[in-house]
This record gives sequence, C-alpha cells and structure tokens, in this order.
Amino acid sequence: MCCIIEKKNYFCRIFDENMIENNSDTICALSSPAGVGAISIVRLSGNDSVEIASSIISSPVKLVGSSPRVLHFAKLINESGDILDEVLITKFLAPNSFTGEDMVEIFCHGSEYIQTEILSLLVRKGASIALPGEFTKRAFLNNKMDLAQSEAVADLISSGSKESHRIAINQMKGQVSNEIIELRERMIGLISLLELELDFGEEDVEFADRSELQKLTTEILDKVSGLIETFKYGNAIKSGVPVAIAGKPNAGKSTLLNSILKDDRAIVSSIPGTTRDTVEESIVLDGIKFKLIDTAGIRKSEDEIEKIGVERTLNKIGQSQIIVLIIDSTADDEENLNFVKDTSIQLSEDQFLVIALNKTDIVADFNITHYEEFGSVIKISAKTALNIDVLCSLLTDYVKSLKQSDASTIISNVRHIELFNKAHEALTRAKEAIASGISGDFVSQDLREAMYYLGEITGTISNEEVLGAIFSKFCIGK
Ligand code: GDP
Repeated sequence: MCCIIEKKNYFCRIFDENMIENNSDTICALSSPAGVGAISIVRLSGNDSVEIASSIISSPVKLVGSSPRVLHFAKLINESGDILDEVLITKFLAPNSFTGEDMVEIFCHGSEYIQTEILSLLVRKGASIALPGEFTKRAFLNNKMDLAQSEAVADLISSGSKESHRIAINQMKGQVSNEIIELRERMIGLISLLELELDFGEEDVEFADRSELQKLTTEILDKVSGLIETFKYGNAIKSGVPVAIAGKPNAGKSTLLNSILKDDRAIVSSIPGTTRDTVEESIVLDGIKFKLIDTAGIRKSEDEIEKIGVERTLNKIGQSQIIVLIIDSTADDEENLNFVKDTSIQLSEDQFLVIALNKTDIVADFNITHYEEFGSVIKISAKTALNIDVLCSLLTDYVKSLKQSDASTIISNVRHIELFNKAHEALTRAKEAIASGISGDFVSQDLREAMYYLGEITGTISNEEVLGAIFSKFCIGK
C-alpha cells in the first residue's frame, strides 16, 4: 500500500507502513565482489545478527556480550563441527552501524566455495539473503542517511574518475540534501505567512507583503534554476562524456582513437570502409571520463552492411555531446569544407564540434580559417600523435566549461533532476500567481507542491514504489 499525501502531511516523513515490517528479518550477503579474491566480506544486519554469527564460530571467541567494533580471530564451523575457514569477525551494535541495526562483518578467504558455504550456513541458522540495496535501504529507513545520500553510496561505488568520485562523495556527505533542506525551510517560511492570512480570511488582512513574497519566491526559483543548470556537467561526469569520432572513410578515425587510447584498439587500414560498426572505449582524461566512439566512415554506399554502419554513425553523432570531425587534409579542400558544413547543420546547440584536420605530417601549411565558423579547429596527425594532447585538452576544457564557476553543489542524478524540474514548474506558477494578485491560498498550494517534489529527492516524502525503484538498481550486498 502506498502512502497518500495529504495537504497537512507535506512537512512530515511519510512511509508505507509495510516497509517497517520488512525490516525485521536478519539479512546476510556477500558485500565484496563475487568471484575469487584474497579476502571476501560477508555482512549480516538485523536483530539476530550477533546470535546467528555466534552460532557458526567455535569458542573461545564470544561475540555475544563482547565489546563492539573489536576484530576477533575465529574459526568458522558447520553443523558437523568441520572447520570451514579461519576468519576475522567483528560486530557493530545498533544504532552505531551502517544500517543502524546490529551488524556483523566476517572477513573470510575469498574462495567462491567458502563464500557460498558461509551464506548457506547463515541461512540455515535463520538469516535471509539480502535483496539488492537492502543494507543501504535499511540505513535510510533507520535515518542513518537520507535518500539522496543513499543514492550517492551507489554513485561512489561506481565512480570511475576523480571528478565523479568528488561529486558522489559530496552528495554522500549531504551537500545536495543540505541545499534542499535550506530551500524547504525558506518555503515553509513563505507558506506560514500565506496560511496565517487564510486563518484571518474574513478580516481581509495581508501579513505577507506581496513584493516581498515575489522577491523571496524569485530567490528560491533562481536557486533551483542554478541547481538544474549543474546537471549538464554532473550528468556528463557521472555517465562519461560521449565523444563521436566521425569523418569520411580513410580520414584517420581509427588511427585517432588508437592514438588517444595509446593502444591498437581499432583496425587501421588504407582500404576505405574498414570500420563498418562502431567501436567504443572509455578513457579518463584529467579526471573526467570520456566514452570514445569510433564510427563507420560517412559516405554514400550501395553496400548493405556499410549503409547500416553509416546509419549507426549518424545515430551516434546525434547522441554524442562532443563530435570530433576528422578531416583528411590531403583530400580535396572544397569537398572537405562541404562535408563539415553538412555535418555541422545537423548538430544541436548543445553539441560541441571539434574539426580535427588530420595528416598534417603530410600537408603542414593547411589553411584552417574557413573551417573556424563551424567549430573549434585543430591541426593534428593521428599517425605521429602531433597535437593529440592539445585535442585532449580541448575535450577536457569543454567539459569543465559546462560547470558553473560558482556551483559547488552538482546535480548528477536523473531522478533528482526530474524532481527539480517539477519543483521549478510549481515555483514558476507560484511566482506568476503572486504577480497577478491571485489569492494566497493558490500560491501556497503551488509552494507546497514544490516542497513536495524537493522532499522526494531526500526521501522526506517517499513511498515503497519509489524506494523499490531506487534500491533495486543496487547490487546485493550494498
Ligand atoms: P578511418 O577509415 O577513418 O578509420 O581511417 P584509418 O585510421 O583506418 O586510416 C586510414 C589510413 O590513413 C591508414 O593507412 C592510416 O595509416 C592513415 N593515416 C591515418 N592518420 C594519419 C596521419 O595522421 N598521417 C598519415 N600520414 N597517415 C594517416
């Protein structure tokens, strides 16, 4: 059963009551990656964690009654008394644990057999296998962190670059949440003023000066707009910036991909049309992750496979944030220019076009000025790696330029941006309502709606459906 949000409940933390029941089991899972390793970690969380863990270790170690957060050396034994492994084991007592419940962590040897045996043993002793993200979900339900912070745990674990790590850690520390708390507090102030008026409705008093209300609403709206603006950067950093390397056959696309990667990843050949499908590789440059896509050469072809390749190239260009259009400087200049023109027309304002004039080891005195109106132009030689470092700097500088210089809080989560956009719409309505002198009742309703959406980001307002959608994307053991 999902919660029903009523007007009076906009300020409360609202949950589906079933969620609390779900929390009573003791759960266990492998929290280190599946597979063989030197050490693996099995975690338990719930009321019976300590008792269950105690039942699978041999004396003299006593987990029940011992001090928490002390690491013990112990032998794990099965029901027949056979030793399964020698491990290190520790316990945490509620509320001082990651989930806020009693927890046990077992550091065992990283054999897949041992991992499975320990989990089976724990299940036979009364634990159940955790659902995806259930440890973090419990941490959220026990108020150890809010929803935005819980989501940051997943981002932190999957962060693959310095910048994505920085954004995730700031969100986990509560940077996004604090912005929302502050915005909601400001909105509560506004709503209180407006609703006080309603209580004196018949006396026609105005506690809230309309121009002051307008000013405060505009300030909140501007703040929300500013946060929305950061998503372009945040999303690029989190997902990796897609860069399409496009051009005519034989221009040097595959050579460029290999040169940036410093690896022979794509096949280089002087036979035109060799790359018929896209080749994708990730690389981190200056702390930013890029997804490089070597595409099939663009030309008219009767060959069915090549035609599909060209179609895919055009799709990839449409989906990419940066397009590196590689031009063969040794080819006909007019044809090259027409090709650049045709391609640039198809790009949106949000896309960044780099025109890389290649093979300048052969043609050095190439005139670049007539290309400059279409994008950033750079002379390179993919083969000799001339200016490849400058090209990489162009890419990283562009991504850095997406960041608002004064933005310390970065929004990188798609769910958050959708809710920020909805809050923005509601705030815009509130602002317009104030400007046109509409009754405070309606203004207050719009403000409440905006607050509601912001509350959904931090989980102040939540329901099982939303939580299910969020935590099911986590791995088991998180
Ligand atoms: P693609 O079809 O655009 O992927 O082109 P390739 O990367 O396969 O290169 C086509 C041919 O051009 C190959 O023979 C490469 O060695 C050559 N080539 C690529 N880049 C350069 C360059 O900067 N200078 C010279 N001289 N040859 C290049």
